[in-house]
Amino acid sequence: MVIDLKKYRIVDLSEELVPGTLNTNGEYVHGSEVRRLEIREFIYKPDNTIMHWVETETHIGTHVEFPAHYVRGGKDGTSLPIETFMGEAVGIDLGYKKPGEPLTPEDLEKAGVKSGDIVLIWSPYKGDDRPAISPEAAKWMAEKKIKLLGVDNSIKVEASYELMATHENLLKNDIPIIERLANLNQLKKKRFFFIGLPLRIKNLDSSWIRAVALEELDGE
Ligand SMILES: [Zn+2]
Repeated sequence: MVIDLKKYRIVDLSEELVPGTLNTNGEYVHGSEVRRLEIREFIYKPDNTIMHWVETETHIGTHVEFPAHYVRGGKDGTSLPIETFMGEAVGIDLGYKKPGEPLTPEDLEKAGVKSGDIVLIWSPYKGDDRPAISPEAAKWMAEKKIKLLGVDNSIKVEASYELMATHENLLKNDIPIIERLANLNQLKKKRFFFIGLPLRIKNLDSSWIRAVALEELDGE
């Protein structure tokens, strides 16, 4: 066996989405998603199989944003190396911060973030208590040359819409950002292997991903 999966604990880090439906008046009724995620069944005539048309946006559920989301003509998911979206990851739980305190370069240093790391960040906070990624921390991650940043809904990606510091520092430097990860608090190890591959479709600003973490089991 090349990789024995029994030696790993696999954590599914993607949100499950329920598509909306059309009511009898033809109006769209949301499923689990506030943005439109409509699927319509059709029968593929040649062999009578069941298929779907999908109408949605690129930023629903767990998704990775590319430079093309922020910079016109920037790289899309097909122009970035595939290794960008998999590799050694470090998890940072900001539960030790006070409510509303932003992520700082000191937090990243304390977590031992290295060049080439995939950095996943979460907190136990909700609403206005959620930590934001400070402009200083965004700059630090760009200078350290992390590979990929991932957060869930417990983190504010931007400290302010005026500054757009993560987009300015990370996306402009070809460091993609994953949003709406799930189950991050189920991770037990500080370091693990992460995979979150985008679809190979040209010119998209962002892609849905199925994200997983592989944690090495102890005692083997
Ligand atoms: Zn997004």
